[in-house]
Amino acid sequence: MSAKLLDGKKLAEEVRVGLGPRVRALAELGVVPGLAVLLVGEDPASVSYVTAKEKACADLGMRSTEVRLPATAGEDEILAVVRRFNADPSVHGVLVQLPLPEGVSEARVIEEISPEKDVDGFTPVNVGRMVIGEPCFLPCTPHGVLKLIEVSGIRTAGAHAVVVGRSNIVGKPLATLLARKSVNATVTVCHTGTRDLAEHTRRADILIACAGTPELIKADMVKPGACVIDVGVNRVDDPSRAKGWRLVGDVDFDAVKEVAGSITPVPGGVGPMTITMLLYNTVESAERARARA
Ligand code: NAP
Repeated sequence: MSAKLLDGKKLAEEVRVGLGPRVRALAELGVVPGLAVLLVGEDPASVSYVTAKEKACADLGMRSTEVRLPATAGEDEILAVVRRFNADPSVHGVLVQLPLPEGVSEARVIEEISPEKDVDGFTPVNVGRMVIGEPCFLPCTPHGVLKLIEVSGIRTAGAHAVVVGRSNIVGKPLATLLARKSVNATVTVCHTGTRDLAEHTRRADILIACAGTPELIKADMVKPGACVIDVGVNRVDDPSRAKGWRLVGDVDFDAVKEVAGSITPVPGGVGPMTITMLLYNTVESAERARARA
């Protein structure tokens, strides 16, 4: 393997260690940072994400509250839970686990979250603030990717970053953040309408795959020495495993690691950083609430 492995688990742990003193300082003031989670339905991936987030809160001495609704829950019922979280002073962060069941408008539910408690950074108010560079909660996965790049010592200023994917929660905010003056990358965004994907990816100093397509990025699509960040988490069938499937990213890891300069694994790359930035935002929200009190 020629590429340096960007160990998201280890880097996330370092960021979490840095949060410890802030949580303890709040505790001395009688404040426990609190995250409230709404989970609708029984989607196994959502259940495991929520469990991981709640465990991470507990490990750091934070509080998490969970409300579970059946998949048959209607929009009004979901909105009522969000309003209850908004009004609860012990809740500093509100997280609605996506996706929501068909027929429920995710946009409507997200809009209901108080921007002051929107630790996922999904509300239009926070997205707008992010775009114009005002203080806000940054969305956790893009924020985690940037932190990972920063703590790994990857140079962004003047680099050409190529983002494959333009979703509202990953690709678009990532492109916006990479183009900020403080990061100073030159950004290309690719999507299903991109004519020759490889032509773009091969020019990337920093290549970020967030397409949700298993092993889309092959070795011949990567510039030698590039930093490759794999956001994708995809389940593929694998009869050799007891559970019948395994997780793969959007990057053909085994082949690309021979070409790239640095690379994130799946799992153990971006995922742990995402959860860490959720904790980061929740601690920040608790500090802001304390300052307002
Ligand atoms: P999404 O909403 O499905 O968006 C995927 C984007 O990729 C779309 O913009 C799509 O283009 C583009 N795309 C798909 N296939 C492509 C192809 N063959 N060539 C070029 N572009 C392509 O997905 P998402 O929510 O952003 O998530 C992306 C991946 O990241 C998923 O695997 C998800 O599980 C994972 N994820 C991981 C974390 C983490 O913490 N590790 C967090 C969030 C998401 P169009 O716009 O043209 O359709």
